[in-house]
Amino acid sequence: METMKITHLYPKSLNLYGDMGNLLTLVKRCEWRGIGVEINEVSIGDKIPESNLYFMGGGQDCQQVEVSREIVQYKEFLIEQRDKGAVFLGICGGYQLFGHYYQPFEGKKLLGAGLLDAYTVAGKKRFIGNVTVQTDFLVSKTLVGFENHSGLTYLQGETKPLGRVSTGHGNNGEDKTEGARFKNVFGTYLHGSVLPKNPHFADYLIELALGHSLAPLDDEIEIKTHKSLVGKAY
Ligand code: GLN
Repeated sequence: METMKITHLYPKSLNLYGDMGNLLTLVKRCEWRGIGVEINEVSIGDKIPESNLYFMGGGQDCQQVEVSREIVQYKEFLIEQRDKGAVFLGICGGYQLFGHYYQPFEGKKLLGAGLLDAYTVAGKKRFIGNVTVQTDFLVSKTLVGFENHSGLTYLQGETKPLGRVSTGHGNNGEDKTEGARFKNVFGTYLHGSVLPKNPHFADYLIELALGHSLAPLDDEIEIKTHKSLVGKAY
């Protein structure tokens, strides 16, 4: 049976706001198609294995400190995996550590894996609320989710956003961008879990990770949920 290998990076440190729901979505959308999923949980001190897809959730600044210390040791390996076509999905705090660094209000700069040409600095205001993103790389032109962050992320070079916010703040509340993508690396501030209510994004990631298209699923409920959230304000 075809199997997709997923590595869950530091769930004991970064796993806020139901980010686990993203993994459950990837597992179910594979299983419903007869595709097996093998999940490796990587904790602080564990070696990071080769994988089809890497997932890292969100977390408070304090948890990001320990993950930053750890992930920089694997920077070369993770960039090599990126360049071989591995898929990465980082949510909020995990997204921030896929970039070059996150500078919290207090304390030292937290270095990241450098998978995305992006950096994050602490902002004075916490952005909390529903977000709708207009995007152009997915079959459905919108992504919906919930943001809760004070970090302000700025994209550089060839790293592009997932799209532009039509509701909510997104990366920094200034340039109307949300999230980031470069090669098969994706970062987003959309919590809530982002994948259950954006099945088109979930399938896009699975297709990239497996290297082939997928049979369609009956997504009536997921699409109804998605549409009920498009444009939902705070
Ligand atoms: N600590 C980071 C911030 O506040 C990330 C928060 C999160 O992962 N929700 O921006």
